[in-house]
Amino acid sequence: MDIHEYQAKEILSAFGVDTPRGGLAYSPEQAAYRARELGGNKWIVKAQVHAGGRGKVGGVQLCETDQEVQDAASKMLGRKLVTHQTGPEGKGVYRLYVEGAVQIDREIYVGFVLDRTTQRIMIVASAEGGMEIEDISANRPDSIVRAVIDPAVGLREFQAREVSFALKVEPSLTQQMVRTLMGCYRAFRDRDATMVEINPLVITGDNRVVALDAKMTFDDNALFRHPAISELRDKSQEDPRESRAADRGLSYVGLEGKIGCIVNGAGLAMATMDTIKLSGGEPANFLDIGGGATPERVGKAFRLVKSDDKVQAILVNIFAGINRCDWVAEGVVQVLREEPVDIPVVVRLSGTNVEEGQKILAESGLPIIRAATLKEAADRVVEAWQNETKA
Ligand code: GDP
Ligand code: MN
Repeated sequence: MDIHEYQAKEILSAFGVDTPRGGLAYSPEQAAYRARELGGNKWIVKAQVHAGGRGKVGGVQLCETDQEVQDAASKMLGRKLVTHQTGPEGKGVYRLYVEGAVQIDREIYVGFVLDRTTQRIMIVASAEGGMEIEDISANRPDSIVRAVIDPAVGLREFQAREVSFALKVEPSLTQQMVRTLMGCYRAFRDRDATMVEINPLVITGDNRVVALDAKMTFDDNALFRHPAISELRDKSQEDPRESRAADRGLSYVGLEGKIGCIVNGAGLAMATMDTIKLSGGEPANFLDIGGGATPERVGKAFRLVKSDDKVQAILVNIFAGINRCDWVAEGVVQVLREEPVDIPVVVRLSGTNVEEGQKILAESGLPIIRAATLKEAADRVVEAWQNETKA
């Protein structure tokens, strides 16, 4: 789960990371009020969306009067911000963060990520702040500093100091750098984050180390033990199809094609998507019903996929081990009886209770296309979809 910049800053500042003073605004008037409340004579108005790259597309504005703050705010609020991280649909701007502007001497990139190779939290930093990490690794790979953190002892002060030296931060600022890095690490670990990114971390004109931007992502599977973080979820920033699935406890990834897929297990999902592509189709999603799915759960999954306007054909592909083919068949049949669809539905069942499952489908009298193998299922769903769209 992602959160907004101002929320990430609030969390990090509780762990000792220095951030600019700021206030949240939902309207242009409130933005101007925030500026007056903060005082000073330069402010930054920042669109709060779950994506970076805002600066390049007008989502970060420097203002010199409270009237300018108000004008910048009215231009941003309610509009869709399209950055290289949002996808072509963009993300709606409903909240703004107004901060007192900071004078920047140097910009540094700092990221804490889960490194799958070493299976540890790793610091990735670069003296080339302000640039996106993708650009840094493409253009200035030599500038990247890495430090792998041993989970048994956590981030050690000497390691943080080494990172600071490697970034050529002045010795007089080492202590502040260490405090910042330790704070990010503790926030990452204690809150079950999967990513903390500060870009840029700046050295200010008055020699402070300040997080000017902040991004945090959390492990969805650990959210149950962080109710305060779960509450930060902002559905306006999510793919509506994925939010609806998450509300139902289903694992769903929205894609761009036309064929809805209901499968069990991530491996089978990958294989199903590949096979659909091989047969000449494009998957509209990836929906995993998990193990031991009851007919009700299968029904929920099926309703969710068919409610997606993009979906023009549905493939149910279940390789049942813990699952039961009869339950899957029952779930599909129940939904189709209650809410008939006018798009082709292909079902391929294999494994536990497959005969019972096939029998339920066959005896339902519903126009369900059955297939014995994955290849056959993919061919038939693509073929049925092509016939349907031609008709
Ligand atoms: P992003 O484009 O979504 O990553 O948004 P950022 O929060 O990183 O802001 C983009 C850029 O705006 C930063 O890299 C800074 O160069 C600039 N910026 C943001 N806040 C300030 C500030 O307080 N003072 C100054 N001078 N520049 C700022
Ligand atoms: Mn940034």
